[in-house]
Amino acid sequence: MYKNIQENYLRVVDQITKTALNSGRNPNDIRLVVITKTHPIDLVQATVDAGATNIGENYVEEALPKIMSLNNVDGLHWHMVGHVQSRKAALVCEYFQFLHSLDSLKLAIKLSKSAVELKSILPVMLEFNVGGEVSKSGWDIRIEENWKKILPDIGNIIALPGLDLIGVMTIPPYSEDPEASRPHYRKLRRFRDFIANYFQMSDFMELSMGMSNDFEVAIQEGSTWVRIGQAILGPRSK
Ligand SMILES: *Cc1c(COP(=O)(O)O)cnc(C)c1O
Repeated sequence: MYKNIQENYLRVVDQITKTALNSGRNPNDIRLVVITKTHPIDLVQATVDAGATNIGENYVEEALPKIMSLNNVDGLHWHMVGHVQSRKAALVCEYFQFLHSLDSLKLAIKLSKSAVELKSILPVMLEFNVGGEVSKSGWDIRIEENWKKILPDIGNIIALPGLDLIGVMTIPPYSEDPEASRPHYRKLRRFRDFIANYFQMSDFMELSMGMSNDFEVAIQEGSTWVRIGQAILGPRSK
């Protein structure tokens, strides 16, 4: 079983490399976060043994025991990719190295306060809703004419101490067809460029997009972080 994880991991890394090269990109510009939500600690350990250095989780409570038990592994980075409740902000600042899913000014203010108390800086990506599904978090960017309405929130977040705003993230509506994600990923990229240009932020570059079913399309559209679970770890038990 764990031998499969190694094989799957290496296959995905190989697919990332090939897709990058085929789209004229440097493979080193695309980083892989393996999403281990719902899976037990020994499986996370197997993922790390296979070579993964970036691990992503959806729930703070579920992640903490995994983070504790792997705290002896050098250079391991933990990514929070799920919706964070404001009262969990301090835990995110303390135990995670990246937050992909900053979805409100209210949460940003809490995170900032915690980061300042911890004298740390949390790199964050802002989450945007590209499909309009009510189940998804983040500012709605479907209608381009409305993009400027989001600027005040982003301006306020930029001004907060303790947060390093490094880019944007989205989860498109699920489809069997990876091509269905392409227009959404294009839109997120255009939106990132719009924000970077408006606020003159040359380091606002990260695009966290692409999952098991569509990461190749995401890489073709500029992804810098792909978040992959099932393609490496198999189906999740509910
Ligand atoms: C679960 C999850 C993923 C990984 O999805 P897979 O289909 O297993 O690759 C990526 N991003 C987020 C935010 C997730 O919740």
